[in-house]
Parts: sequence; structure tokens; C-alpha cells
Amino acid sequence: MRGLCFALLLASPVVAQQPNVPNWQQVEAETMQHFQALLRMDTSDPPGTEREAAEYLKQVLEKEGIPVEMFAIEPHRPNLVARLEGNGSKRPLLIMGHTDVVNVDPAKWTHPPFSATRAGGYVYGRGAVDDKDNVAAGLMLMLMLKRMNVPLDRDVIFLAEAGEEGTTRVGIQLMAREHFPRIEAE
Ligand SMILES: [Zn+2]
Repeated sequence: MRGLCFALLLASPVVAQQPNVPNWQQVEAETMQHFQALLRMDTSDPPGTEREAAEYLKQVLEKEGIPVEMFAIEPHRPNLVARLEGNGSKRPLLIMGHTDVVNVDPAKWTHPPFSATRAGGYVYGRGAVDDKDNVAAGLMLMLMLKRMNVPLDRDVIFLAEAGEEGTTRVGIQLMAREHFPRIEAE
């Protein structure tokens, strides 16, 4: 199901404007790799420590030539913003996901909550459906748009946000209050 969701999300902008079709098998494998990597990072909030996830995303995006900025009031809890530029004829689109997760009691888990174990068609991990799925999807969307050189009428902004699960002052509040032009979108 997850693979299908990613495929649908990615298919419309890419296929509509580009004749060459992505290798979806490769895309799925790559998506799973990033998804599991993110799930294996303990970004429980509190205390947060989203830096590891933000650094991971930064390195993946920059390797593909996508510029990245980091914004933080606490150094271990950065927000990441990446932007693909369009021709400016329409206002930007903002893709968001948050890198922190809710606290967890490992005793209640079938598989360790930061193991990203694949079993029976599922991926077990804190944040698997809130919100590292959206982070991984947003990351892949940026990579695919860039690789396929899709002509854009609008900037596409990717925000991987810290602190969503209880410390929004380090996350969306900081971005909205002090860096709004970086995430302003239609
Ligand atoms: Zn959430």
C-alpha cells in the first residue's frame, strides 16, 4: 500500500510533464531505504534531537544539487528547508513533514520501535505513519523533480520540521515568526 501511495503521489507531476518514465522499482527501493534510515533515528520529542534526521536529509539533497538551509534556535533541533525553483508564474507549493516522533514504551512493541523491521508486509517503527512517511515522501518528491528536470510553474519547497509533537517553538513557530519568506506558499 505504501509503495502505491508513493507512486501515486509522484506519478502525477512527473508523468504529466515528462515523456520519460521513472524506474519505479528503483524508486521504491530508494524510498524504502530513506524511510528505514529515518525510522532508525531516535528523534523522540522530548527531548527531540532531530539533528541526525535533518543532517541525513541535507546530505541526500545536497548530493543531488538541491540547495538546503537549516534554521534552529536550539542547535540539536534544526528545521530543514529545501527549494526547487520554478518560473515564478505561480506561487510556491509547500511540502511538509516533521522529523520528531512521540515518546514510546518499547515493552509494548512487537519489534523494537527504532528498528524499522520489515515483517509480514509492514515496517515497524515509531514515526512510520507520523510523520517519517511524509518526510520520506517529500524527500523523494524533491529528488524526482530534480532528476527528471521537470519544468515548474512554481517553486516547490520542502520543510522537514522539528518539534511538531510538543515543542513547536523550535519548529513551525520559529519558521512562521522568523523565517516566513522561506516557507511562504500558496
Ligand atoms: Zn505528527
